[in-house]
Amino acid sequence: MQNGSYDADVIIIGGGPAGSALGTLLARDGHRALIIEKDIHPRDHVGESLTPSTNLVFDRLGFLDKMDDAGFVHKPGSAWTSPRAPLWKFIEIWLFQYPMPGNPRPYTYSVERDVMDTMLLRHAHESGAKVLQGVNVRKLLFEGDRVVGVRAQVADGWERDLHAKLVVDASGRRCFVATQMGLKHKDPNFNQFCIYSWFEGVQRPPERFDGFSLFYFLGLDKGWSWMLPLRNDIYSMGVVVDKSDFQKTGKSHEEFFYGMVRRNRTFTYAMKDANRIRPWWIEGDYSYKVDRFAGPGWLLIGDALRFVDPIFSSGVDVALFSSLYAYETILEAWKTGQEKVAFDRYEARLETGVDIWYDMIETFYKLQNLLSRYATRPGWREHIVRALQGNPYLPETQERAGVLLAAMHESYEKVMSDPNNLMRPWTFDPIRSKTLDWDERAESLLPPCPVCGGKVEFRNNRELLVCTQCGLESPTGPERPAGKAIVA
Ligand SMILES: Cc1cc2nc3c(=O)[nH]c(=O)nc-3n(C[C@H](O)[C@H](O)[C@H](O)COP(=O)(O)OP(=O)(O)OC[C@H]3O[C@@H](n4cnc5c(N)ncnc54)[C@H](O)[C@@H]3O)c2cc1C
Repeated sequence: MQNGSYDADVIIIGGGPAGSALGTLLARDGHRALIIEKDIHPRDHVGESLTPSTNLVFDRLGFLDKMDDAGFVHKPGSAWTSPRAPLWKFIEIWLFQYPMPGNPRPYTYSVERDVMDTMLLRHAHESGAKVLQGVNVRKLLFEGDRVVGVRAQVADGWERDLHAKLVVDASGRRCFVATQMGLKHKDPNFNQFCIYSWFEGVQRPPERFDGFSLFYFLGLDKGWSWMLPLRNDIYSMGVVVDKSDFQKTGKSHEEFFYGMVRRNRTFTYAMKDANRIRPWWIEGDYSYKVDRFAGPGWLLIGDALRFVDPIFSSGVDVALFSSLYAYETILEAWKTGQEKVAFDRYEARLETGVDIWYDMIETFYKLQNLLSRYATRPGWREHIVRALQGNPYLPETQERAGVLLAAMHESYEKVMSDPNNLMRPWTFDPIRSKTLDWDERAESLLPPCPVCGGKVEFRNNRELLVCTQCGLESPTGPERPAGKAIVA
């Protein structure tokens, strides 16, 4: 095909953060970028908490001032707490404790994704990219084994073929290209289920945690929950568990969510007067791997190239950095005429970076205590903070993360090979570790009264543990006095 007959230099499938970022970079450089988005923005989307590194790409796009103008909540750090820790007692990570070279802000953001994604897509348009919304890409077009364009459904029954030098897939977890080419595989380790919504009337954490992303551990091997502050005193709250754990309970979404809330003392308190203001959103089966990130005439960016569990808020980080590196790769390929060389390098860089996120996540799921332990050890704190700052695609970030992960793996082996090690999963929480259904079955797992050996029951709407024989009492709630517990 001749240059003049192309509809664009690059066709980008999808107008989420990845597609908008790439469209902006290409257009600002004078190239013809065409973004095709099937929805019409604003459209709802999960994923509100960002990493510090995303500032670097927003800055490069000329978008950072717009983030501030929008008044998104500034996020200085993340913190987490275990199921029965005292109220508001968190292990906290100040994400900017160690300076990030070139980062123009001392905070990142928590965002309403519908708003941010709309702004980003508009920014791409204002930068010179063409944007089609409400247009669904249906099919890739090939000449031999080279992708040369797409078939787009502009309206019901009306399709049009569009051609470009390159097609970039930014279609998110739909993985348009990888699915068509049979390159997508479900992750064998993760089969997660997530339920979330937005709430008003949530108890605010102490001022020190203003803007923090808060995480509540639930005493489940593959479970955790988030609480992210948005504008106007609204919070995004979500629960992630292994899908089989959800299915086992046989409960409605609402009952299941509140059952999980009750597994964590601070989460329970935070939600005591909360009102849900949006419908429940459900996500599931979302972790997968894709065999190739690029090929003749095509390239993948963002979730379209891989999705790993969201515990470390890595999604938008991957979306933005893969767009930036894809942009550099495309220019290199055009300049040198060596597309395969440039694309192979892109794939290797992205794969190493995303593998680091994955390794961190896998280690976290193997032993949640380990993350807390490393985060509180002065010798390892910088490693943890820098790993959570994002952008694991640079050699120095990768080297530091490698050292951290090797040490964590070694600690894990040590802990698990010693049956008496107190860091083994749920040593301090034997009851909750055995049952998902804390409400109905937990009582049967309570140990006998340590004074008389009598049967112990919950009383007063579960705030109190009482021995039915000698009457010994112990509060279970946040105000439980130290040293008076009868259930350790
Ligand atoms: C439970 C959960 C929690 C998360 N929390 C976080 C978080 O706190 N922080 C974070 O950074 N990330 C989080 N993520 C991940 C984050 O949502 C994604 O990584 C991010 O949205 C990826 O951006 P993207 O541009 O690649 O894809 P998307 O944002 O999904 O954009 C893809 C776009 O492509 C369009 N599209 C799809 N198919 C077609 C087609 N055939 N034709 C035209 N258009 C098409 C879609 O309509 C969509 O707008 C979370 C994810 C999950 C599941």
